[in-house]
Amino acid sequence: MTPGFPYRLTCPHCGGHKLVASIASGNTFHSTLWSDSKHDYPMLPQPSFIQRCPDCEHYFFYNDGNPVETKDDRFSFDFGELSFEQIDEAYDEIFNCTSDEDNKLQILFLWLFKYNDKYGGRDPNYRSQVCPNSIVERRTGIIGELMTRQADNVLFVAEMYRELGNFERCIELATPLSGGDDFGAEVARMFIEHATVEDTYVFPLY
Ligand SMILES: [Zn+2]
Repeated sequence: MTPGFPYRLTCPHCGGHKLVASIASGNTFHSTLWSDSKHDYPMLPQPSFIQRCPDCEHYFFYNDGNPVETKDDRFSFDFGELSFEQIDEAYDEIFNCTSDEDNKLQILFLWLFKYNDKYGGRDPNYRSQVCPNSIVERRTGIIGELMTRQADNVLFVAEMYRELGNFERCIELATPLSGGDDFGAEVARMFIEHATVEDTYVFPLY
């Protein structure tokens, strides 16, 4: 992986500037696909599509920050990655203000992925952490929105039921897809296996 010049973003709220790392070249070695559909590419980091302004602490879409390549040679690896608490705040600030359906979907997925990083089992160091009640309720709403928007993706919906602890429904949806040698059937069998032992944590598919 070769670092590239950082990009300068301009906060659309306050006009403040922020430098975000970029890479000149990378690859997909050591990638992981998780059961919640998150892809990790350690050798191909990308800037977070939602950025937080360090000056006014508001959130904005990367592209709305009008990214301009700098010639700043102090290479950084700060891609503006948000914590779970930050995406949760960002959701409040921007979800209802954006009319772009793709952006809405990306916010929902980012929320889910960050939730699973912290509470959903992706990071074993956090497994003892109990998710606050306010978040439990929000998660149900966010997963509901994702299931509606991804209704055609039955395997994804099955996985969401498993993560919510509705193992029966997960198995019911995954079973018809579980015959055969293709990757989808293999994934369906993995979902069934984890649902059978009442496991709600995310796990790597490969
Ligand atoms: Zn700002």
